[in-house]
Amino acid sequence: MHHFQVRNGEMHCEGVPLRRIARATGTPVYVYSHATLSRHYRVFDEAFEGVRHIVCYSMKANSNGSVVRTFTDLGSGADIVSGGELARALAAGAPPDKIVYSGVGKKPWEIEEALRRGILMFNVESREELEAIDAVAARLRKRAPVSIRVNPDVDAKTHPYISTGLMKNKFGIRIEQAVKDYEWAAGRRHLDVVGVDCHIGSQLTEVSPFVDAARRVRRLVDRLIAKGIPIRIVDIGGGLGIRYHDELPPHPREYADAVADAFRGLPVTLVLEPGRALVGNAGILLTEVLYTKRIPSPGGRGKKCFFIVDAAMNDLARPSLYGSYHAILPVGKTPRGRVTADVVGPVCESGDFLARERIMPPYRPGDLLAVMSAGAYGFSMSSNYNTRPRAAEVMVSGSRFEVVRERETVRDLFRAERTASFLVRGRGAKR
Ligand SMILES: *Cc1c(COP(=O)(O)O)cnc(C)c1O
Repeated sequence: MHHFQVRNGEMHCEGVPLRRIARATGTPVYVYSHATLSRHYRVFDEAFEGVRHIVCYSMKANSNGSVVRTFTDLGSGADIVSGGELARALAAGAPPDKIVYSGVGKKPWEIEEALRRGILMFNVESREELEAIDAVAARLRKRAPVSIRVNPDVDAKTHPYISTGLMKNKFGIRIEQAVKDYEWAAGRRHLDVVGVDCHIGSQLTEVSPFVDAARRVRRLVDRLIAKGIPIRIVDIGGGLGIRYHDELPPHPREYADAVADAFRGLPVTLVLEPGRALVGNAGILLTEVLYTKRIPSPGGRGKKCFFIVDAAMNDLARPSLYGSYHAILPVGKTPRGRVTADVVGPVCESGDFLARERIMPPYRPGDLLAVMSAGAYGFSMSSNYNTRPRAAEVMVSGSRFEVVRERETVRDLFRAERTASFLVRGRGAKR
């Protein structure tokens, strides 16, 4: 469920016509619905009602301060993957004792900062990382709360780039090795073993891989407790899928029941790290058609259209990167008829497309389009490729909207650059 609806022939976000936002901020612009974000959080959180749990919003899906603040206001913690995200999480009001730190490549300064701030735990991905955290904690005379991210070797049946729970992935430690690492960690004075963690992938549309992973993690927890290692936290990661096209992902309740069931009877707090499920369908990317182009169809029959829009792969990388589907809908009245078209951006790559071979109305220059389900891994993966300033971000609540991140300026893009002194032909320079 989301709050992007057509009323009187005009698509609105909650009470605001998208056209009004486009006029005020220009395009491309990301638009987020506060009511949708809140609703998704509540539905997810309430699904785990009756189980001791902490929802740690996975910030890499969308790290805009107002988005994160929406969740922290509702009681959310944060799942972070860098020192940068730690700073953002704290700035957006995440309580340190609800922050979990994941990722395979934590640097010493990042570990130190997280330790000083007193986060809930580090999700550790290798023995060497355990040693690094132990060393930083010893230097600071602190005890670092750790859990080991185990690789349960289950197939998440999702896109290979976002599948993380297989033995061949770079993530986690295989369960047998993890037992040894837990025993080692339990004997270190500056490590406090608190939990077990796993995250098997993203955009999962079935519960069975979650159940498989949870059962393996449960067996591990039982073994560790039997060895006298008191596991208090089980972090089951994120990964719950959303509907982009015709997927039928499980309802959060179904997911919650399956996961909670696997840990019944254990005195643990569950940590959940949803990203996409909270933000994906709460945001769109608004773009304008710049030009249209018709070429003879490669198949020989009819014509193929290109709609060249002002958003590109640098703004929304998912179609280019994973071949992902995003519905593209008209914001206003549509011209009559149907054509087969690619929606492409201005970037100089043939891989720069937002949609391919879609049946859609014969749009004209100036038409506004809404690229749907762009709230997760949209802006947060955007780049400045082709020296394109990153889009503005807007949040809507009821009949109000506010810019929650200004569009970058061209000046912003090379502010940090320096012309090498030996290139500058200033006064007195040799020719
Ligand atoms: C990316 C990620 C998540 C969030 O994944 P979603 O599919 O967006 O829910 C959670 N935990 C970890 C460790 C991640 O890397």
